[in-house]
Amino acid sequence: MSGPSCCPVCGATDVRVRWRSLGDRLFRTTEERFDIAECARCSSRFLADIPPLERLAAYYPKDYWAGPTDQADHAQAQGGLMEAYRSFVLRDHVRFVGRAIAAQKQRGIDVRMLDVGCGDGSFLQALGERSAIGMDFSMSAVWAVRARGFQGIRGTLSDCPFADGTFSLVTAFHFLEHVHPVGPILDAMKRLLRPDGEVVLQVPNAACLQAKLLGRYWHGYDVPRHLVDYTADSFRMTLEKHGFEVIAENQHCMRDNPTTFATSVAPGLFPPARLGRGGKPTGIGAAIANLSYLGITLAAMPLSWLEAAMGRGASVMVHARPKR
Ligand SMILES: [Zn+2]
Repeated sequence: MSGPSCCPVCGATDVRVRWRSLGDRLFRTTEERFDIAECARCSSRFLADIPPLERLAAYYPKDYWAGPTDQADHAQAQGGLMEAYRSFVLRDHVRFVGRAIAAQKQRGIDVRMLDVGCGDGSFLQALGERSAIGMDFSMSAVWAVRARGFQGIRGTLSDCPFADGTFSLVTAFHFLEHVHPVGPILDAMKRLLRPDGEVVLQVPNAACLQAKLLGRYWHGYDVPRHLVDYTADSFRMTLEKHGFEVIAENQHCMRDNPTTFATSVAPGLFPPARLGRGGKPTGIGAAIANLSYLGITLAAMPLSWLEAAMGRGASVMVHARPKR
């Protein structure tokens, strides 16, 4: 395997391999091994050999974001308790995006929102913004978001069926770390925005405390699906380089940060990974696995608060707008 030649975030050539021979710990989609490199200038990390686009689909299990394909199974697998838990832990997303929407409404803007990579739509439901459209590459995700009463579109930013200037807000959570190069994606978002439109974007923060503690086992790297691992600083820098200015930032995320820790230490307990490997969604074994995972997640909450308070949270959510 050849080494990396330059940083995909800042272009520096001072890069070196940080961890060698990592595999897909979560979904076991491949036996291949991957190296993670680090940039000495901006501290971003990235797959040392970023696979070509046509190979990437093979690293995603079927129904990556949306759970089991069959909708009856889907409802059963999620269950009422799981749904309640999800809407509880989504409160950081809802608060952050809700604030952006409220400010737009206050300015008299007719809010139209697009959630890119919407998954099963649980965020849109928790947010309750009925103008929102969910877009996902996965058809089962589109069905799931429609079942929640939202418009769902199957597509990607490069081939989506909306006219330029359609939306006042484009959101994408845990999406940009899966794409390379990021420039055309950010440009596509800009084109979809009205002149006064805004984005809310979230990625894992490779400069977080848990990444330091857990090293190569930190789940934020999610090899080989995460191609580029930004730090909060290098993510901000990337947005600025591509013509955005940052309005607000948040590093505490109840849904993602404690679970990133839990998945790092016990990848086999992560519920979607268990289902992806053919595990059963119900039964005593599943209940024990779910409770164990929940226990580790709860135990990781103080760490999540602490690292966010130190400016080293495990994810970074940014509210930004194109520079005018
Ligand atoms: Zn760099």
